[in-house]
Amino acid sequence: MKLILLGPPGAGKGTQSVVLSKTYKIPHISTGDILRESVKSGQALGLKAKSYMDKGELVPDEVVVGIVADRLKNDDTKKGYILDGFPRTVKQAEELDKALKTIRSSIDMVLYFETSAKTAIERLTGRRVCKACGFNYHVKNIPPKKAGICDKCGGELYQRPDDTEATVLNRLKVYEAQTAPLISYYAKSGILDKVSGDLGVNELNKVLSDLFAAKKIA
Ligand code: AMP
Repeated sequence: MKLILLGPPGAGKGTQSVVLSKTYKIPHISTGDILRESVKSGQALGLKAKSYMDKGELVPDEVVVGIVADRLKNDDTKKGYILDGFPRTVKQAEELDKALKTIRSSIDMVLYFETSAKTAIERLTGRRVCKACGFNYHVKNIPPKKAGICDKCGGELYQRPDDTEATVLNRLKVYEAQTAPLISYYAKSGILDKVSGDLGVNELNKVLSDLFAAKKIA
C-alpha cells in the first residue's frame, strides 16, 4: 500500500500515519520528522532547512525531493509506505511521479484530510512534544498527568518553534498557496479520496480502514 497523506498542518496526518504504519507494517515517511532530526543532529541539511522551518516556509523543492528519493531506495519501502507532508508543491509531486515511473511504481491512494482552520490552529498551538521520545500531547485534548513532563518517559515537553500562533497562521497561508493545488492534481489522476481531518483519532481511523476495505487496498 503506497499512500500519500495530504492536508494542512494540524490535520492529523502524523497521528494517523503512526497508527496506519503499525497496522499495515509499512514505514511512515515524514519529511518534517527527517528535517527536524537533521536540525537536532546539526547536519548540513538541517542548518539549511532550519531558517525556513522556523518561519513556517517551505524548504526548497530540490532539498526535500532528494531526501524522499533516497528514503524510497530503502528496502523497507518495497511493500509500501506512507508519505506524510510530502509532496507539498506541484513541482515535488511531478518529481515524485517521475522518480516512481523510472522504477515502474506508482502511488495507490492519496488521502486528503479536509480540515477547518479552527481545528488546525487549535491543535497546533496546543501541541506539546516530548524532547526525549517525541510523543505528542495537547494542553487540552491530551494533557500529560504532570504539566510539562512526558507520561511515557519522564522527558521534558516543549512547544515546537513553528507551533506558535503567528507561525501557524503563516504555515496555513503557505499550505493554501503552495500545497492545496495538489488536491486537483491528484483528483485529476483519479487516486484522491477525501476524509474529514476534523474527526477524532479513532473515528478517522475507522473511516480509513473502511475505505481501504471498500477499495481492497490493504
Ligand atoms: P511538518 O512537520 O510536516 O509540519 O513540517 C515542518 C516543516 O518542515 C514545514 O513547515 C516545512 O518548513 C518543512 N517541510 C516538511 N516537509 C516539507 C516538504 N515536503 N517541502 C518543503 N518543506 C517541508
